[in-house]
Amino acid sequence: MYAMHALILGAGVVGVTTAYTLAKDGARVTVIDQRPGAAQETSAANGGHLSASEARPWATPSVPRQLVRWFGQAGAPLRLPLYRWDPMLWRWGLQYLSNCRPERYRANAAALLRLARFSQQQMHELAAAARVEFEFRPGGLLSLYRTPASLRHAQRDSAHFAAQQLVDDEFLDPAQCAQREPALGAALQRGLIAGGIFSRDGATGDAARFTLGIAQRAAELGVEFRFGLPVRGLIRNGNRVVGASTTMGAVRADATVLALGMGSRSVARTAGIQLPLYPVKGYSITLGASGDDARLPRMGILDDDKKVVYARFDDALRAAGTAEFAGFDRRIDHRRIDPILGAVQEMFPGPFDAVQVAGAAAWTGLRPMTPDGPPILGPASNMPGLFLNTGHGPLGWTLAAGSARLIADWLGGRTLGLDAAPYSIERFRP
Ligand SMILES: Cc1cc2nc3c(=O)[nH]c(=O)nc-3n(C[C@H](O)[C@H](O)[C@H](O)COP(=O)(O)OP(=O)(O)OC[C@H]3O[C@@H](n4cnc5c(N)ncnc54)[C@H](O)[C@@H]3O)c2cc1C
Repeated sequence: MYAMHALILGAGVVGVTTAYTLAKDGARVTVIDQRPGAAQETSAANGGHLSASEARPWATPSVPRQLVRWFGQAGAPLRLPLYRWDPMLWRWGLQYLSNCRPERYRANAAALLRLARFSQQQMHELAAAARVEFEFRPGGLLSLYRTPASLRHAQRDSAHFAAQQLVDDEFLDPAQCAQREPALGAALQRGLIAGGIFSRDGATGDAARFTLGIAQRAAELGVEFRFGLPVRGLIRNGNRVVGASTTMGAVRADATVLALGMGSRSVARTAGIQLPLYPVKGYSITLGASGDDARLPRMGILDDDKKVVYARFDDALRAAGTAEFAGFDRRIDHRRIDPILGAVQEMFPGPFDAVQVAGAAAWTGLRPMTPDGPPILGPASNMPGLFLNTGHGPLGWTLAAGSARLIADWLGGRTLGLDAAPYSIERFRP
């Protein structure tokens, strides 16, 4: 029997989830990645949040004011250095700033929340079918606000999307935050919590373990992984994309899915497609911790004013955050890690001594960010045979299962489970 041959470029969480979903649907699938295994770039050590109700674009109406406040601060959560010689950043930055207008923010946030909810349903089905162990903790996510002003702002935002049934949030006062998450007792006493928003549908886990587990299941279904193979470009026959060229020759397929994270931009350009992606660098630290230490949180937390997320693993706490615009520079700048560590020690004082802090595993990754927030999904304009599945920015794990389902349904010619117009590359056409 003839099975469609799909070529997936990229073995991060997005590419691997897509490969598995397509293989489950009966396609013959090949995955190519330059690295020796799956999840070795941005999906390697992220914040670990699966955040259906927390999904929001980073282009918000308060960004322009915050950028002024944070200007010149080495440890600021977000710095947009438009003064640097980086034309790609200027183009992207201006589009980003124009998406901070309130009406654009609301439309982009609704699009992200719809995809995040769709993705959550798909994730449940996928995780149940694949039976992969990834330290999944489905107990909800708690967003904390350190000031009454930021709390009020977040509550207004949540109420707006609750009216459209897009979030499942509960507002908590400071004492309720500490009841829900006892490890916050010390922060409560020190007056660090003005209030919180609890999202019942959030969860945490280890995205890299998830990706590796799904890759294993995909391989068992017959997916061929070709690691250590850099992709040079897309191969075209007229307008049709018929595969990819690699350092070891051509790989041809009926459909090619571009899921190279930040690598998508240069490979798309070989077929004349301009993807408005910028690598927004983030950091995580993973601190070894005993599994029964009650001073550490059990549930995932977003420390909103510091823009740091915390996730508990069996024997570690992960903290992640910061947004640095430094092109493709992947070096670790310790001035960016110190504020994350500082946030951990303020919120959860006590568990980590100097030796544990010194031994923390520091990591950096490049978020493939669109200027408006939603990823770029679907057929590439006027280029049959090519499907885009990239630009997931700070939410790639949260959105991976839904994005994979949409791509599989496009390839299979089925009706989509979601209006996909807000994710199309067409939205960037002038
Ligand atoms: C600090 C930080 C915290 C985060 N926290 C969260 C979180 O809590 N929740 C969440 O949902 N998301 C989070 N994210 C975002 C999430 O990690 C990303 O959106 C996601 O990993 C992107 O996955 P991807 O598969 O698109 O890209 P990647 O994981 O980067 O995979 C792309 C793959 O393509 C390969 N590749 C690239 N170019 C080529 C080429 N030319 N040839 C061959 N192979 C190539 C790479 O080797 C890589 O394996 C966070 C990100 C960061 C940086």
